[in-house]
Amino acid sequence: MVDLPTYDDVSAAADRLRGHAHRTPVLTSRRLDAELGLRVFVKAENFQRVGAFKFRGAFNALSRFTPEQRRAGVVAYSSGNHAQAVALAAQLLGVPATIVMPLDSPGSKLAATRGYGAEVVTYDRYTEDREAIGRALAAERGLTLVPPYDHLDVIAGQGTAARELLEEAGELDAVVAPLGGGGLLAGTALATRALSPRARVYGVEPAAGDDGRRSLQEGRIVHIDPPRTIADGAQTQHLGELTFPILRREVAAVLTATDAELVDAMRTFAATFKIVVEPTGALALAGLRRLAPELAGGRVGVIVTGGNVDVDRYAALLGGSLPA
Ligand SMILES: *Cc1c(COP(=O)(O)O)cnc(C)c1O
Repeated sequence: MVDLPTYDDVSAAADRLRGHAHRTPVLTSRRLDAELGLRVFVKAENFQRVGAFKFRGAFNALSRFTPEQRRAGVVAYSSGNHAQAVALAAQLLGVPATIVMPLDSPGSKLAATRGYGAEVVTYDRYTEDREAIGRALAAERGLTLVPPYDHLDVIAGQGTAARELLEEAGELDAVVAPLGGGGLLAGTALATRALSPRARVYGVEPAAGDDGRRSLQEGRIVHIDPPRTIADGAQTQHLGELTFPILRREVAAVLTATDAELVDAMRTFAATFKIVVEPTGALALAGLRRLAPELAGGRVGVIVTGGNVDVDRYAALLGGSLPA
C-alpha cells in the first residue's frame, strides 16, 4: 500500500506556506446567488503567486527537500502553471531548477519560467517523451523530480486553498473544483472532509477528456489520448496512483463541461466579479450550473484555479472568434 496524504499533511503544508503563498480572497455575488439559487463562495486562486494554485503544492514540496536535495536542484516537466510554480518556489528557496517544456510553448511562458531563474530544457512534444527526459535529467544530474499532481506534498499543498476557503466561509453543503490529474481535487477533498464533514465534493473535467469520471465509475485508472479542449490545464491523460484512491473514497461525482460552457463561465467571472479566469479555472462554475438544481438553497464553495491566459486569446474566446 502506498502512503496517502491526510488532512494533517494539509495543515502542515499550510504552516509551511504561511508568509510565502498569498491568502487569496473569497468572493461572493448576490447576483450570481440569485441566478443559481445558491450561496456561492468563490476562492480566487487566479490571485495566487504565478497566477494559479500550483504555487502551493510546488512550494510545499520544495520546502521539504533535504539540504542535499536543495543543493543538487529540482526538475519538473510542464507546459503550464506547474512550470512557473516550481521555478518561483525554487528561486525563493535557493534551489537550482530545471524545467522541461515543449519547444512550441508560448514565448511568454518560456520567458516567465526563465525569468524566475530556471534553466529551460525544451523537447518536441510530438516525438519525445517528457517524463523520460525528466527522469533522465534527474538521474544524470542527481535532481529531484517534482511531478505536477501525483505526489504527497503536492496534494497536501493544493489542499490549503480549500482549507482557507472553509476557514472563511464556514461549513458548506458542497465544494466544487476543477479536475485534471486530481492533485487539487484530492487535497480539496481532504480539507473538506476534515473541516466540513457533511459537504459533498465534486470534480469538473473537460467533456473532451472524461477519464476522471470513467475512472471512478469503472474503479480503475482509465487512460485516454490527450483531449482537445481549451482547458489546457486539464489535458491530463490519467489520474495518479495517489490521487485516484482519495477521489474514489471522497468524491460524490465528477461532472464535465464543454468548451462553450467554459467560455460562458469565463464571461460570468468577468461580468460579475471583474476577474480574468483561464479556461481551466472556469471548470467548477461551469459544472455548478448543472448541479444547482440538486443543491438548491445550499452553501457552495467554488475553486477558481487560475488566471493565466494570453490577453489576445482571452479576448478572442470571449468575443466568440475562436472556436470554443
Ligand atoms: C493544473 C491545473 C488544474 C488541474 O489540477 P490537477 O491537480 O492536475 O487536477 C486546474 N486548473 C488550473 C488553472 C491548473 O493549472
